[in-house]
Amino acid sequence: MSELNELGELYREVILDHTKHPRNKGVVPDADRKAEGYNPLCGDRVTLYVKLDGDRIKEIHFEGSGCAISTASVSILTEALKGKTKNEVNALFEKFHTLVTSDVGLKTDTSDLGKLAVFEGVREFPMRVKCATLSWHTLKAALENSPTAVTTEE
Ligand code: ZN
Repeated sequence: MSELNELGELYREVILDHTKHPRNKGVVPDADRKAEGYNPLCGDRVTLYVKLDGDRIKEIHFEGSGCAISTASVSILTEALKGKTKNEVNALFEKFHTLVTSDVGLKTDTSDLGKLAVFEGVREFPMRVKCATLSWHTLKAALENSPTAVTTEE
């Protein structure tokens, strides 16, 4: 997992924990939404299963395999976004996207991001931004019920 050497010590611990012990891995048997994501630059693959309660994420699980950053990203995402509404997810995605794509050294708004804020370190490595955002793009597709597989190549 050489890419972890690129990240700061602070981030490494959380990311390593989620890579070794991914949370919410598996299917949601009665999921009403499902989407697949693929990041061809790195080979990361993720499938998200979502059960909605109205506009709110009642249950969210994932399957797939990829690099440490993509695995930690989807694991932390499923923890952080369970119980959130679609609007809350969109607001958090905007913050997360700003966090990982802003200029190095620029302070961005990390309120409400919780553990997701550990991905700030990937902004130094543009190739890794797609690993960190793959699960978000996939979740958006699931919530919009887009029938096609998503890719980070837009
Ligand atoms: Zn990756």
